[in-house]
Amino acid sequence: MIDKSSRVKVAVQKSGRLTENSLDLLVRCGLKYSRGKDQLMCYGENMPFDVLFVRDDDIPDLVQQDVCDLGIVGLNVIEEKRLAFEARGISPLFELLMTLDYGRCRLSIAVPEGVEYKGVTSLRGKRIATTYPNILARYLREHDVEAEIVTLSGAVEIAPRLGRADFICDLVSTGSTLAANRLWEAETILESQAAIIATPVPVSPEKREWIRRLTMRIDGVQQVKESKYIMLHAPRAKLAEIRKLLPGSEAPTIMPLEGSTDKVAVHAVCRENVFWETLESLKSAGASAILVLPVEKMLA
Ligand code: ATP
Ligand code: ZN
Repeated sequence: MIDKSSRVKVAVQKSGRLTENSLDLLVRCGLKYSRGKDQLMCYGENMPFDVLFVRDDDIPDLVQQDVCDLGIVGLNVIEEKRLAFEARGISPLFELLMTLDYGRCRLSIAVPEGVEYKGVTSLRGKRIATTYPNILARYLREHDVEAEIVTLSGAVEIAPRLGRADFICDLVSTGSTLAANRLWEAETILESQAAIIATPVPVSPEKREWIRRLTMRIDGVQQVKESKYIMLHAPRAKLAEIRKLLPGSEAPTIMPLEGSTDKVAVHAVCRENVFWETLESLKSAGASAILVLPVEKMLA
């Protein structure tokens, strides 16, 4: 018999830009899961985590209402909901546990081609269409600009052409959607990436421990992505120079080489990508037998 209350429920976007990366992250953290028949949930088989699939906009509410213990969603949605909850006097609020290294985009104000724009003051008295009215309102307040916010639930980029707004405030990553709609990015008002939020309601010690372990593993997974393990032989006399060339490494392990007095083996974890140029510099500095290996797991 599974005790439901001791399992950590995680809300993840059902189908969209964050879905694949979020599931992939949980799998890299060791989670093996089976899909429920209804496709609405995944059940962890080896860890007490269950995944609930929902629309990303519903994730902060589910976590705030303690239906889910954790939620993975963009900072843009988190910030918008946080401001909306605060405006309604709701507290305590869900907690931001950690940011994740995917889902990067920005919330920006965009201007239709041919419309005059000389900076934020050009927004004065105009209509701005957005699905992020709270973040936009804060931005306008901070810049002492009064404008009309037209709140839409989608298709913001066509609002100017439909005559519903003068400007828009929407998510941008490459800018190609803006260009296709003859808009250009004028102001960035929020930088976003995926993040994990946690329920404001205290959880049991067992759940808390599992959440702690998950965040530790996520830290490890994120560090490992760029990390490499370098092994090389170095002349003792060149050790200082070679150590300086190892990108993002802390204390390397230095070992004697059997039968050699002037050379040592150096092993180091480099927390940055290792490029060919680095290897070439190492070689020029006197290193030999250079090996670069991927790092699979790391626990600091
Ligand atoms: P849902 O059906 O879950 O409501 P959606 O259409 O709101 O889906 P997506 O377009 O899949 O959501 O985007 C989900 C999140 O991905 C965004 O809230 C944002 O954090 C992030 N994201 C990254 N790049 C972009 C981008 N270019 N445009 C929109 N969102 C992006
Ligand atoms: Zn959405």
